[in-house]
Amino acid sequence: MTTNCVSRFAPSPTGRLHLGHGYSALLAQDLAHAQGGRFVLRIEDIDENRCRPEFVDGIFEDLKWLGLTWEDPVMVQSTRREAYQAALDQLIEMGLAYKCWCTRAEIAAAAGAPQGDQPIYPGTCRGRADPGDGRPFCWRLDCAAAQRQAGPLIWQDALAGRVVARPEVLGDVVIARKDAGTSYHIAVVVDDATQGVTDIVRGDDLFEATHIHRLLQALLDLPVPLYHHHGLILDAGGERLAKRRNSETLADLRAQGIDPAALVEGLRRGVLPPGYHLGD
Ligand code: GLU
Repeated sequence: MTTNCVSRFAPSPTGRLHLGHGYSALLAQDLAHAQGGRFVLRIEDIDENRCRPEFVDGIFEDLKWLGLTWEDPVMVQSTRREAYQAALDQLIEMGLAYKCWCTRAEIAAAAGAPQGDQPIYPGTCRGRADPGDGRPFCWRLDCAAAQRQAGPLIWQDALAGRVVARPEVLGDVVIARKDAGTSYHIAVVVDDATQGVTDIVRGDDLFEATHIHRLLQALLDLPVPLYHHHGLILDAGGERLAKRRNSETLADLRAQGIDPAALVEGLRRGVLPPGYHLGD
């Protein structure tokens, strides 16, 4: 059976992959291969301060260790800045983006959120004149104006069903960072369209981001993939696996002599190595 199904795995090379990444990549690969479709890879390395070439090598090594196969060429976001700039320019021209000069501390203070949390941006710079002192700025999406323009939106999630898009849950997100000139949100929707991705398999931690992605797809006239947000793998303490918390990596499991074929067979049946379990 051959279908047009194209799924992808899109890791950021900011550390070594953990079991949650392996699980997502495996589900994505299996979904495409079961339908005679294609599984592609994308390296999401727009954050030059945190991404490292050795982690890109680590991604290939870990996925190969799991026995996954993907199509060439691998897309690399750091080579695609022109495409992201074109999308940003389109949103600026539509009058749906504005410059923001706020610092993180100013945003946290204005939103009344504790430092470290990701507060919803209170819109301080919407309609604000350029301070004219050369301060660095990012671009934000004017979420309410964008929603008015796009009208009501939905997406289909293989697990959650029909979802009504509520981009306001993330609000006026950054669409071009001060340091990177683009953002995760722009890059991901532009690249999924360019790679012809029909099915997005990723963890529930990105479910909220999909509200914004759906809005951007409508504004930029991009196709809408089918989403498959899956439950996250949790560690023995019930915590999500995270690079920044130094969760055990796939390289650690390999060093422990874990058999990758047995690991993958287990993951396919929802059986995880000792100490791990699947969240809701
Ligand atoms: N690059 C993102 C991450 O590593 C995932 C992007 C996506 O699947 O949409 O968390």
